[in-house]
Amino acid sequence: MKALLLKNYMELEVADLPQPEIGPDDVLVRVSACGICGSDVHGLDGSTGRRIPPLVMGHEAAGEISEVGSAVKNWRPGDRVTFDSTVSCGRCQFCRRGEINLCDNRQVLGVSCGDYRRNGAFAEYVAVPQNILYKLPDDLPFEHAAMIEAVSIAVHAVNLTPHSLGDTAVVVGSGMIGQLTIQAARIAGFGQVFAVDIDDAKLEMARKAGADATFNSKTTDVAAEIAQRTGGRGADAALEAVGATDPIRTAIAAVRKGGTVTLIGNVTPAIDLPLQAVVTRQLRLQGSCASAGEYPACIQLLSSGAIRVDSMISARTPLADAPKWFDKLYRHEPNLMKVIVQPQETK
Ligand SMILES: [Zn+2]
Ligand SMILES: [Zn+2]
Repeated sequence: MKALLLKNYMELEVADLPQPEIGPDDVLVRVSACGICGSDVHGLDGSTGRRIPPLVMGHEAAGEISEVGSAVKNWRPGDRVTFDSTVSCGRCQFCRRGEINLCDNRQVLGVSCGDYRRNGAFAEYVAVPQNILYKLPDDLPFEHAAMIEAVSIAVHAVNLTPHSLGDTAVVVGSGMIGQLTIQAARIAGFGQVFAVDIDDAKLEMARKAGADATFNSKTTDVAAEIAQRTGGRGADAALEAVGATDPIRTAIAAVRKGGTVTLIGNVTPAIDLPLQAVVTRQLRLQGSCASAGEYPACIQLLSSGAIRVDSMISARTPLADAPKWFDKLYRHEPNLMKVIVQPQETK
């Protein structure tokens, strides 16, 4: 089969590899769409230590089952599926509590980090254990299904954030996860949703995604603007989708006393935290990692049109041109959000 192989750091090529072998509990999926994740782009240069070559990356995928393992009973060839990017064991204490994102034996498709290596879905075929599969409705395009991982991150973060109908939320960071978080917050019952970024083009998208007001934190005092719109109190909750000192400080300053800051972004390993503001204003800081069981809800939200992803898909590419798109993403070409690789397409 054809696959996009990370041969060495910064060296991607389309290679002929043997089709993955499947175990008794696995299925083979013929991949129709696989999104390029920020973590794949960061993994290119070895800085994260989680994409040790040689490796086929790719974990945001959807396609059709082409073969099932001997112990697989409920899936058959031809089923349209997507799958969790996290391979959970189903047996540890966390899995048994439904916290599959915290699994003790957690692996991620398309990752090799020293402890394990699992080839991913930038390939014509990928092997996937049956316990992480989800069936797709016929009317949901594969390229939208490839966005479910991103949607699930936003939905999980909103689910973890305590709120009542009509509360006010501020979403800091209006990249793709921020845009999806705005949409998720809206449908979860937040009455007003504000968006913050340093890029006016992204703020324009945020307005289209449903933000009531947007603020450029480079040119405005975000906390003051939000205080003015909330009777001087501040937002009930902030959801932070960048993961660096400045945006986290913005989020902390924008919430009311007793409010919650849900931390989704993690581009930096450590930040400078305004501790006294957190303690004396009794804020709740909550991390949010991946998702835990939200996939079926996300499939429903996408299929019904409650959450829309069309505007976030910047480009589609066959395997042959994928290295070029990786390069554009690596160089931060402006206005690029999700690029979808279509391994079955040849041009
Ligand atoms: Zn991802
Ligand atoms: Zn587990």
